[in-house]
Amino acid sequence: MNREAFRKISYGLYVVSSIQDGKFNGQIANSMFQVTSEPSTIAVSIAKENLTHAYIASSRVFSVSILAEDTPMTFIGLFGFKSGRDTDKFKNLKHRIGKTGAPIVLDHAVAYLEAKVVQELECGSHTIFVGEVADYDSLGNEAPMTYSYYHTVRKGKAPKTAPTYEREEPRATAAASRYVCTLCGYVYDPALGDPESGVPAGRAFEDLPADWTCPVCGAGKDQFEPEQ
Ligand code: FE
Repeated sequence: MNREAFRKISYGLYVVSSIQDGKFNGQIANSMFQVTSEPSTIAVSIAKENLTHAYIASSRVFSVSILAEDTPMTFIGLFGFKSGRDTDKFKNLKHRIGKTGAPIVLDHAVAYLEAKVVQELECGSHTIFVGEVADYDSLGNEAPMTYSYYHTVRKGKAPKTAPTYEREEPRATAAASRYVCTLCGYVYDPALGDPESGVPAGRAFEDLPADWTCPVCGAGKDQFEPEQ
């Protein structure tokens, strides 16, 4: 059996958002699809340990923002690798409240759908929420991001709570100047440095301060390994 089979399943990349007690949260999801057209229903697979799961389970509403192909990795990092328990992800973010009451992320979205939960399916670590679509709109003509594009062109990875997560075996280390974040796939390139964190171009990975963290997912230096 070849596990490559799983990598040949096609997906998109979405922000799924919900509300609880007036607070908003959202997360990256790849497992979203339309179930029926009359009435329009969609389904999302959400990890039970994620905060968004608790919000959907209690408010029974969610929105799906379909991300553009050029969505910055830092944005995907905020929604995909950080928890709403530690960060207000909607701060400084273009969004609005939809008809269902769910927040809708508008930044980097080419379209959105919002839905009311009509059914849910327990699936071990995840729940599949099926929602009847209450509102939707197309926001732009840019190409939507596919999961394949995210992995192959943008070099992104899946967090541990993704339905598609695959554990990677640690690789033998080799002399390399570029280092890869094993959690999110961000590449530290000494030729570029990390200007957003005040690290100038030309600084070797080894010379980064001990408290430097991945600008995408917030992982520490110990989570990086030399690029192969
Ligand atoms: Fe990272």
